[in-house]
Amino acid sequence: MALVSELHPVVLKAETNEASNALQDYAEFWKIPYRLNLLEPKGSVLFTSDRATAAQSSVHGPVILTPVGREEAQKTASDAGVGVTSENKLLRLPVRKGITVSLRTNVYQYSGSRIEPLLVSEGTTIISRIIGSNIHLVGLDLVTEYSRLVHGGFEEIPSRRFSLVAKLPFSYQSIPSFIRNRSFRTEKGLSGLTEENLGPVECLRTVFLASLVRIAGPIPRIGFWRRGKAYALSVTHDVETQAGLEQGAKRLMEVEETMNIRSTWNIPSDRYPLASSTLIKFAGNGEVGGHDTRHDGRLIFLSVEEKKRRLASCRGTLERLVDQRIRGFRAPLLQHSAGLAEALYNAGFEFDSSCPSWEILSPTSLRSHGVGTIYPFYMRNILEIPVSLPQDHQLIRVAGQKPSAAVDLLLKLARWIRGVGGACILLIHPDYEFGEAEHKQDYERLLESFRSDQECDIMTLGEMTEWWKVRKEARIQMNDNKVSIISPERSDMSSELQPQLVTGYGGDGFNVVNI
Ligand SMILES: [Zn+2]
Repeated sequence: MALVSELHPVVLKAETNEASNALQDYAEFWKIPYRLNLLEPKGSVLFTSDRATAAQSSVHGPVILTPVGREEAQKTASDAGVGVTSENKLLRLPVRKGITVSLRTNVYQYSGSRIEPLLVSEGTTIISRIIGSNIHLVGLDLVTEYSRLVHGGFEEIPSRRFSLVAKLPFSYQSIPSFIRNRSFRTEKGLSGLTEENLGPVECLRTVFLASLVRIAGPIPRIGFWRRGKAYALSVTHDVETQAGLEQGAKRLMEVEETMNIRSTWNIPSDRYPLASSTLIKFAGNGEVGGHDTRHDGRLIFLSVEEKKRRLASCRGTLERLVDQRIRGFRAPLLQHSAGLAEALYNAGFEFDSSCPSWEILSPTSLRSHGVGTIYPFYMRNILEIPVSLPQDHQLIRVAGQKPSAAVDLLLKLARWIRGVGGACILLIHPDYEFGEAEHKQDYERLLESFRSDQECDIMTLGEMTEWWKVRKEARIQMNDNKVSIISPERSDMSSELQPQLVTGYGGDGFNVVNI
């Protein structure tokens, strides 16, 4: 076990808001101790996106530099008297034994007699040192790529075709049919369900932490889930029709109740008749969330004010029926944008689960689409919890899989999410195959795989939101030669936070020990 006196403080420095936010998001994601834009204490390691800062600070100690944009990479190379080439490449990095994360990106390869590669993966140099200096170069742009994937991925641009159809009366019914007619009804769509599509952001985060561990040595952090848990699962349902509400939901709930799994039921407030007693039962099985009012696919087109009014009306109607606070939302067709997140916050919601990590075909933009992470993240004060596993509708109705094959694929993807340590978010509609009696066993097999796994932290989306907030507000503290966690919330939850020490990074990914 490393002594606190052997740990090196981490300082992040950036010249622009974009860079500052990205570096801070990386550090906050891992929950490592750091200082932002402050003077470096003795023995610290500086992580920066700015060339001039790197040159100045390298006089005092080790610096990690991730240049922003091609021009900065070239200037960095020319300052150091080395060469640089750029190439679009698929990067793959281990996070633990047998589990990798991937990203397709521009890779900067520095070369020359002054360049010493420090971290190489599958022939690509990720980190190199400039010999005779304290500067270490990251071979990719951690700032621009983060913005592109997370912020760019969160904005969905409706296709012209969708925009036209959505404006017609009763349009929603016609949307699924023209999607079904497309060539996506093939195995081709499924082949896109890869780690480079589902979690490219995880690859960026890995490069950030791996660089620090390689150059600064052991780094303390806070584990992602409760003590003893390696990953999380939320089971969620969008109830599209009255038949789903009255029949399919009952069947799904039966399976969940025998396994003691509580799930999240997202209900449109004004699409079909709702009985208070039914919704109270859903809330008893887990929680009820909003799923728009009429579910007509037009939410994304409304003005800021109209969005807010509609979302508040959805929440108000459901709250009166359930007699409980409604905290979460899922948009029909998984529509999402920063504007929608803001409207949700203004309408009194706390969390949203409306963006896929990656999906085969977005009905709104008519292309494959996703936010590229399998972890929750904050967007305009709302916790966004990505739908990390492909929804039943996409696997069965769009890609044409049998329910049993869909379960096999979901479990295969869940094994990868487990290995990375993320959140598995299942979206199962009571209106489709899994809500039918003949596919009950498939649904049982799916849930049993998670339930029987001691390392799976099963919770509703609302519970995940509370947990993520407790973790967000907690900090690693180092004094009296001890690493501990301080949390403003003195709740049972905060005592479940697990301090860890990342002691190394190599061919089998991160070496992590619980403290
Ligand atoms: Zn829906």
